[in-house]
Amino acid sequence: MGVEHVPYKCSVCGKTFEGGALIVGGKILCPDCARIYEEIIDECLAEALEKMINGEKVVVDQCLDNHANDISRLGFSKSHFKAAILSRLARVLPRQV
Ligand SMILES: [Zn+2]
Repeated sequence: MGVEHVPYKCSVCGKTFEGGALIVGGKILCPDCARIYEEIIDECLAEALEKMINGEKVVVDQCLDNHANDISRLGFSKSHFKAAILSRLARVLPRQV
């Protein structure tokens, strides 16, 4: 009581919160869970870009395996993250086809 409206409930941790929701893959993430989500993507994206700049082979799966615990805690599949990372990579790559 006292709270007029609590518009969001985190799909991952169950916390209710007022704003800063990340809505992705049919889930609503609170700012804390969203930060974990974004960190996984940012880290693997940065690693992939660094490898590409150095002319090394990019293996997104390897990076995702390092975050396996967080990925399963958030309740997403590894493929979900892989697709998210690859689609962001595709945006920064020069068109090759
Ligand atoms: Zn949460």
